Amino acid sequence: MSTVTASPEATRRAWLLTEIRTRGGVWTAHRAATALHRSPWPSTGRNTARKDLRALAARGALAARDDLELRRRSYTPKSLLPHRRCPKCRATFEACNCRGAV
Ligand SMILES: [Zn+2]
Repeated sequence: MSTVTASPEATRRAWLLTEIRTRGGVWTAHRAATALHRSPWPSTGRNTARKDLRALAARGALAARDDLELRRRSYTPKSLLPHRRCPKCRATFEACNCRGAV
């Protein structure tokens, strides 16, 4: 079956990405699910939110970080500007481990 409209999944992920870029900061599956409760898809669960974050990261829209202490994965929106670098270590933001900390 083919269709010219975006799938519900793609539409939801686009909504979520806009939300993430608008609000910024660190996004966990919990935060994404909470945001989706205010979306046209309020019944979205945390597992679906986690898959959406993973899919957005896979296409390069988000950067993933594993927090080993909290044992969870979190995501931050990648800059829309290409080749931005950390002002401290000069690594790309995707590669930076210092997070700009002094
Ligand atoms: Zn850095």
